[in-house]
Amino acid sequence: MPERRPYIAGNWKLWGTRAQATEYCRRLLTLLPEASRRPADVGLCVPFTALDTCIELLQGSGVLVAAQNMHAEETGAFTGEVSAAMLVEAGVQSVVLGHSERRQHDGETDRALQEKVPAALAAGLQPILCVGETEAEREAGDMQRKLRHQIGEGLEEVADDRLADVVVAYEPIWAIGTGQVATPDLAQEAIAFVRALVASRSEEAAESLRVLYGGSVKPENAVEILAQPDVDGALVGGASLDPESLARIAAAAAG
Ligand code: PEP
Repeated sequence: MPERRPYIAGNWKLWGTRAQATEYCRRLLTLLPEASRRPADVGLCVPFTALDTCIELLQGSGVLVAAQNMHAEETGAFTGEVSAAMLVEAGVQSVVLGHSERRQHDGETDRALQEKVPAALAAGLQPILCVGETEAEREAGDMQRKLRHQIGEGLEEVADDRLADVVVAYEPIWAIGTGQVATPDLAQEAIAFVRALVASRSEEAAESLRVLYGGSVKPENAVEILAQPDVDGALVGGASLDPESLARIAAAAAG
């Protein structure tokens, strides 16, 4: 079975002027062990305006830099948008797609993600595709139906031999920014289901694909969640704004 290297990604959301990004990156680098001794890959998902600052300061450190959105088209009448090629040119390595906050506030749809995910891959970006159910959906017993739909649509146009190049973040919406973390069992169950969905396309890809948990992860709860066999890391929002917390969560991936 292929080894899946844990991945801890901090999502700054709407935080991070260039001055804040500078201070943050310098501090983070003092807290993380050298790349070769890290138990997990570490990444930062930052606003567009902080990308170049982070890329410059983190160069050679092994810390990945991701954008928080992109458009599927390369060019055209899409005012306010940024393409995959523009991100790659800027030195960005990865991009968060379908975060629930974008789905909720900015009209991000599964249909658009169906184009964005392969467009990111084609340009050389690693997409982090976010999926997850609302509290009402979970209570109605609809969690699996929701995940089947989101994974089915989001990965539909990705060739089987590229599936493992996608990172999926399972983020139950009721756990994002609420302090209400999913129990380790619950995270394991949902993530194992995501992996089974991918296995129905390609068992080989499902064994290599990394699926992260997201939703109120903190240093205090990270060890238990990351210890689950199918949980390959975490997408961390609020707690990632403190570099110390992010470094502790990355250390927790060692078990
Ligand atoms: C997120 O931003 O994806 C997230 C999971 O946020 P938080 O850790 O604050 O719940």
